[in-house]
Amino acid sequence: MMGTVAENIDNIRARMIVAAQRVGRDPRSVRLVAVSKRQSLEAIREAMEAGQLLFGENYLQEAQDKIAALGQGVAWHCIGHLQSNKARIAAEIFGCIETIDRIKLARALDARLAELGKTMPVLVQVNVGGEAQKAGVAPHQAAQLCRDLQQFPHLVVQGLMTMPPFVDDPEESRGCFRQLRLLGEELAAQGLLGKQGPVELSMGMSGDFEVAIEEGATLVRVGTALFGER
Ligand SMILES: *Cc1c(COP(=O)(O)O)cnc(C)c1O
Repeated sequence: MMGTVAENIDNIRARMIVAAQRVGRDPRSVRLVAVSKRQSLEAIREAMEAGQLLFGENYLQEAQDKIAALGQGVAWHCIGHLQSNKARIAAEIFGCIETIDRIKLARALDARLAELGKTMPVLVQVNVGGEAQKAGVAPHQAAQLCRDLQQFPHLVVQGLMTMPPFVDDPEESRGCFRQLRLLGEELAAQGLLGKQGPVELSMGMSGDFEVAIEEGATLVRVGTALFGER
């Protein structure tokens, strides 16, 4: 049984804290990204009133409309596939693009950010499960992409994001989450990630965010468990 949005947020936050403490992590090192795709403005406002100020959106037009309606004071992450020809708008409305997986997109974002005179934290999306239908670079290509991204002064490559293959048992995703963390550590050791603060690892969704936190997630993207079915 689902509660109200406010109750669900409290519940998820409590579970996040327990998961972090289970592995000796500071609960404040993990942030909740409320995935609001296909959710109403009313539901998002309810979440805002419950103190949730970070949201994730997949579709540009939808995000644009919501951001225009809900105004300032909230941060939005792009967590969906982004076309390069939409990069201009994305650079204007999002606080972070979590789905960088190619140079062309990065170049378009950087050009617009230069015009705007600002920098933006971005994450490289990694296809840890190697599924053909999923976006993201293969793990072995991540270092090269991160090196290539160094040429864009307005992008701050802060970490990695992944979406593992869908499974019923969250324990089955643990290996993927661990692999992303190890990759993040490797790239950070090469100076390719986390120039402005700790390396970000965006991983874990409604069904598996606790396992992801145990494996090092700093951002969990939770939609259904927070807002209900879409
Ligand atoms: C929709 C979506 C989520 C949220 O999934 P839930 O299972 O509803 O929590 C997280 N990440 C990405 C990239 C998504 O597209």
